[in-house]
Amino acid sequence: MALDLMSRKQVALTAVRQAAAVCKGVQEQLIRPETIEKKDKSPVTVADFASQAIVCSMLADAFPDDVVVGEEDAAELRQDDQAHVRQAVMDQVQAVSENCVDEETVLSWIDLGGANADTQAYWTLDPIDGTKGFLRKEQYAVALALIENGQVVLGVLGCPNLNGGELLVAIKGQGAQILPLWDSEDTEGTPIKVSEITDTAAACFCESVESGHSDHSQSAQIAKLLEITKDSVRLDSQAKYATIAKGDAQIYLRLPTSETYREKIWDHAAGKLVVEEAGGTVTDVTGKPLDFTQGRKLQENRGIIATCGPIHDKVVKVVQQVLNG
Ligand code: AMP
Ligand code: MG
Repeated sequence: MALDLMSRKQVALTAVRQAAAVCKGVQEQLIRPETIEKKDKSPVTVADFASQAIVCSMLADAFPDDVVVGEEDAAELRQDDQAHVRQAVMDQVQAVSENCVDEETVLSWIDLGGANADTQAYWTLDPIDGTKGFLRKEQYAVALALIENGQVVLGVLGCPNLNGGELLVAIKGQGAQILPLWDSEDTEGTPIKVSEITDTAAACFCESVESGHSDHSQSAQIAKLLEITKDSVRLDSQAKYATIAKGDAQIYLRLPTSETYREKIWDHAAGKLVVEEAGGTVTDVTGKPLDFTQGRKLQENRGIIATCGPIHDKVVKVVQQVLNG
């Protein structure tokens, strides 16, 4: 029996909004510059766990039989020396829970995200995508997608720092919409479309801030060959997919920095559907469709190219030319 996507969409929107609100609160408390300079990971850890607990508990409440493949699990958090982190996670979750919750309940909510990506249908969640951006007080996203028979059928991206807070949603075959992230009254949103350019010279391209996640020197060569004159826009997280889907940029390049790295499904599922439903195209760097039947990783794919569509084949060709030296 096909899943009820409309009701799942509404629950997913509410869950991502709540999780994003918690992340925003934690990010705002990162006021001391030394927290960022020392690369202190604990605030992002707290927000990551709290975000996963919130989303998993709301999905379980509404759809008890649904399973979630999340980025986090609570194994480390259960250890004796993690009591202070556990307490901080509890405080965050308690602040948005209607009822009083105990520690074991919150840990079990986090562990609801421990499903294998091998069932007919499953959610995949990145509770904070772009942790480095989160710590820099820049872009990050709460990314939630539903995969059914190897196809992404529902995607939600909460981007707290894109234009004051944007929420993007797509159901397969039904287009993509944008909604205000902080206004829970709006549950329908406004349709979005990718940009209509057909010439790469007019394109603006985006890529990771982190050069360890996508090769910056190769992307500069590719941009030159495509006659792109604008500087790249560097953004952390799936905010890049959101930017393409809204028509604010036309190319997203994620160029492998190692032979062995494989992309994680939660880093791409929601963003891919949002871009495709806004009219764009998403493949790996060889032009192959993303294959979500391979478990937690995109084992059969390498890197990512997302574009507004008509320029896609040309971009793939030039990327191949540069990657193959
Ligand atoms: P971004 O913010 O687009 O740079 O991507 C953040 C994501 O990059 C994280 O969620 C990680 O899962 C992922 N990541 C970690 N290492 C690598 C790598 N070597 N290549 C590509 N992505 C990576
Ligand atoms: Mg991620």
